[in-house]
Amino acid sequence: MTRIREHDLDHALGTRAVHAGQEPEPLAGAVTTPIYQTSTYVQEALGRHKGHEYARVSNPTREALERNVAALEGGSHGHAFASGMAAIDAVLSLLSAGDHVVCGENVYGGTHRLMTQVRARLGLTFSFVDTRDLAAVERAIGPSTRMLFVETPTNPMMRLADLEALGTLAAGRHLILVADNTFATPVFQRPLECGADLVVHSTTKYLNGHSDMVGGMVLTRRDDLAEQLAFLQKSVGAVPGPFDCWLALRGTKTLAVRMRQHDHNGRRIAEWLAADPRVQAVFYPGLPSHPQHELACRQMSGFGGMVSFEAGSLERARRIVERTRLFALAESLGGVESLIGHPATMTHAAVPRAMREAMGLTDGVVRLSVGIEDPDDLVADLDRALGD
Ligand SMILES: *Cc1c(COP(=O)(O)O)cnc(C)c1O
Repeated sequence: MTRIREHDLDHALGTRAVHAGQEPEPLAGAVTTPIYQTSTYVQEALGRHKGHEYARVSNPTREALERNVAALEGGSHGHAFASGMAAIDAVLSLLSAGDHVVCGENVYGGTHRLMTQVRARLGLTFSFVDTRDLAAVERAIGPSTRMLFVETPTNPMMRLADLEALGTLAAGRHLILVADNTFATPVFQRPLECGADLVVHSTTKYLNGHSDMVGGMVLTRRDDLAEQLAFLQKSVGAVPGPFDCWLALRGTKTLAVRMRQHDHNGRRIAEWLAADPRVQAVFYPGLPSHPQHELACRQMSGFGGMVSFEAGSLERARRIVERTRLFALAESLGGVESLIGHPATMTHAAVPRAMREAMGLTDGVVRLSVGIEDPDDLVADLDRALGD
């Protein structure tokens, strides 16, 4: 179980990003945490070792990453997994057959698939609700409900859930509140400080930020849950290798500065799209026209680089995503390079059409992961792709 050290929380977020969880390496004094590429560790005598016995259970590179991200989220424990989905699966493995989960209806497509097509077969039950609506969340809670799982902002409709209100509700009903903080990152939103019990991340996205690894994290302040997660990490073994941990740790060092530019570019593009008559609607919490803009300002300190818009039809969406040159047509998000995607046929193809349409995710929705390039170039690329 990886617990942060007291001094990991000494500084502001931008400083934690660079330093938390990391010590100069003892052998040569390397400033950068080495890649401990080993499966096992020598023992000096029976039961006498330096805190590591086998690499599925612990690895120093992984521990540095776990401490670093825990410090960023204001948590006390971090657990790294081989992917965001492995992290979410570990969270669901805290429950037992017969337990019920209330989940946001607009969560990541893979999360919905894991719940309905894998975990449901193993005896968990799920209700999917609009987590903007607190009364709907409350109505969905029953005697066997154990967990509340939310994403905010959601992918790709950029809807928000009120974390403070859900934190209060979950505490009153003794539910584990889980927040997927992949989109906002701890730079702009810290759910543990709002009452969430667990934060999950796909480190594949903004935390790593360079589109060159796949990984996941779970962060918490609760010792009891941390202990169970460490047990699951060891027992199931869905752990990341040291090189991927090292890449993610290199990524988190620049998280604060990258997010500043993602946010700057995201706002610029959202405003530009909102003023363009070729676009029907823009979904971005930083726009005053967003129905939850007031909550966004209260709960988030920035809005990031995820922007979705309604192009009007599948044909128009297809034309746009196939015509951009800087925005690459690809799944995923959160890297330094800009990406463009069509959720209905890509990331959310696994979500039933009726459910997609009920949440406004039509065939005309285009999603942008706005990178850190010069915003003038990105606007020019979109302008050309939107055509006439
Ligand atoms: C990508 C993503 C996941 C899944 O993470 P992987 O690393 O791809 O397994 C979960 N939640 C959100 C919000 C995501 O964007």
